[in-house]
Amino acid sequence: GQSIAVFTSGGDACGMNGAVRACVRMAVYLGCQAFMIREGYQGMVQGGDQFVKATWASVSSIIHVGGTIIGSARCKEFMEREGRKKAAYNLVQREINRLIVIGGDGSLTGANIFRIEWTGLLDDLVASGKITPQQREKCKDLHIVGVVGSIDNDFCGTDLTIGTDSALHRITEAIDSIASTAYSHQRIFIMEVMGRHCGYLAMVSGIISEADYVFCPEAPPPLDWHERLCSKLQKERECGQRLNIIIIAEGANDLNGEPITAQMVKQVIFDRLGWDSRITVLGHVQRGGATSAYDRILACRMGAEATVAVLESTATTTPVVIVLVNNQIERIPLMGAVERTQAVNKALQDKDWAKAIALRGVA
Ligand code: ADP
Repeated sequence: GQSIAVFTSGGDACGMNGAVRACVRMAVYLGCQAFMIREGYQGMVQGGDQFVKATWASVSSIIHVGGTIIGSARCKEFMEREGRKKAAYNLVQREINRLIVIGGDGSLTGANIFRIEWTGLLDDLVASGKITPQQREKCKDLHIVGVVGSIDNDFCGTDLTIGTDSALHRITEAIDSIASTAYSHQRIFIMEVMGRHCGYLAMVSGIISEADYVFCPEAPPPLDWHERLCSKLQKERECGQRLNIIIIAEGANDLNGEPITAQMVKQVIFDRLGWDSRITVLGHVQRGGATSAYDRILACRMGAEATVAVLESTATTTPVVIVLVNNQIERIPLMGAVERTQAVNKALQDKDWAKAIALRGVA
């Protein structure tokens, strides 16, 4: 049968293990040899025991574990052709020319560059006597499929990325515990959540915690937000509300593109109202912990589909990324989705908020 390799790359997320497990088991089920590559592209470039032959049993008891047990890394070498040539050599040695990459848009972009260069890399390896023409023939084309693991839900074309739901569980638990103590003392809590350039985690956190104010990168507040925020807080106090929650996305900014930080908000409240507030930066708590039921099932569905897709890939098919649309698992062109994701980030940089939101396709 065919050989397939799966690896995780970029930032870790809950559910990545479930996706690896599903890829491996579907490959075994279909009579293929599955490999897991440790430490993402770093392991692919290094070779040796970073390539692990996987069996049905090797991915047992990992579906619930957060992060990624096969490791993830950033890899500078893979950004250069020389590094990618080493990676190609390590793959061809094991007759692997079908890859499933579980990562963010950077990792997926890297895989596509690798795919485009593949033939040239193998020609070089034949010319330098590192591989034989027979080996090249056996691995003629590189087939790639993407699965998006990211707690930020920052990828275009999918309703959810693997890891978002678990991160929201962590955020909910943290906010609930803080809220119960805050309620006893009439306090204002400012909470910073992750999400990089994406306000999804902040927006959902805001709704589920009945927050008074949410700062998102895509929807900067009016320039007089200082005044609006403080008069809202004041009105609520007058109505007898004891607890105030303000959520800030780590990438929050104002209409001029200047960052809005938890410290700034705290200062504004103090200067204008003389009220003290507490800052909680949820940080890495959001990445860890048990994988939610939803992320587990999403990972199973996406991983299984990725294996089928990578096996069905031919020299003429467009590489795909596995996505969730209207609760159905689908394949969409990989680079179209990556380019749209990168266009969102560009629009945010250009302070074209409306364009960013339209591109992202948020209802
Ligand atoms: P993410 O996948 O979460 O967006 P990064 O952007 O850090 O994370 O990418 C992870 C790794 O993917 C990088 O360390 C690098 O090895 C590889 N990669 C990213 N972009 C490229 C690229 N343009 N060319 C080659 N490799 C890339």
